[in-house]
Amino acid sequence: MYILKLGGSILTKKDSSKGEIDSDNLKRLAKEIKESAVTNLVIVHGAGSFGHPPAKKYKIGEKFAPEEYSQKRIGFTLTENEVKRLNMLICEALIDMELPVIAIPPSSVMTSSNKRVNSFNSTLVKKYLEKGYIPVMFGDVVLDDELEMAVISGDQIIQILAKELEATNVILSTDVDGVYNKNPKTHDDAIFFDKFTSLEDLETFEGSTSVDVTGGMVGKIKELLALADIGIDSMIINANKENNIYKALKNEKVKGTIISKR
Ligand code: ADP
Repeated sequence: MYILKLGGSILTKKDSSKGEIDSDNLKRLAKEIKESAVTNLVIVHGAGSFGHPPAKKYKIGEKFAPEEYSQKRIGFTLTENEVKRLNMLICEALIDMELPVIAIPPSSVMTSSNKRVNSFNSTLVKKYLEKGYIPVMFGDVVLDDELEMAVISGDQIIQILAKELEATNVILSTDVDGVYNKNPKTHDDAIFFDKFTSLEDLETFEGSTSVDVTGGMVGKIKELLALADIGIDSMIINANKENNIYKALKNEKVKGTIISKR
């Protein structure tokens, strides 16, 4: 089965201070998914410029004093509502292409402990898959056993889903070709990795430059290396390049970084 992540950086104008969709990219990607005719697919999308500003403003995931609780709770619901707004726009574009998508918000089916998912009942996701639907999940806020509330990135959700559903093809799309030794957006001399196998290489890495409370490229690699550890390979590709998603879903060759221990 296939898991496809659509990065917040391609679906939204990520540097925007409020939620702004990139509708051209969204339409094109919906078309590419449709044309690939892939079945047995789960889509995960990031929160981009919709989720990050409120999560940052209300410092969701940071420790807080008891008297701040009611404000925090509003921040939690506001963030959830923003990512749901993005999710609705994405689902609308996919349904326009006659793709049978069904949103499954992580805040409704997952909890975490210190920002790591500790419970997820996948029964419903499996049931929708069996019936030919395309479940859509996204970076979201969840109740956290230690911190009361946390932000869970789309990238962490990919890891949880891939394990739970025993995915055979895990494709993460973002706005760069894959993993480099440093941020290719700020370094012309960044070196591209066709394959990435270990965390040691991360020590020379720079963090993501975008407003991203969930860790950017470094966060992605950590999640994907955890999958590689249990034998599930994945790839990071650039969805800004036309037909990359189509080709990846058709198992055709695409420039990208394979995360694998093999
Ligand atoms: P998305 O929102 O698509 O999930 P992120 O913005 O979280 O993606 O992460 C992708 C970004 O990470 C890229 O746009 C790139 O600028 C940045 N980045 C930082 N370091 C690296 C690196 N070493 N290799 C590739 N990209 C990197």
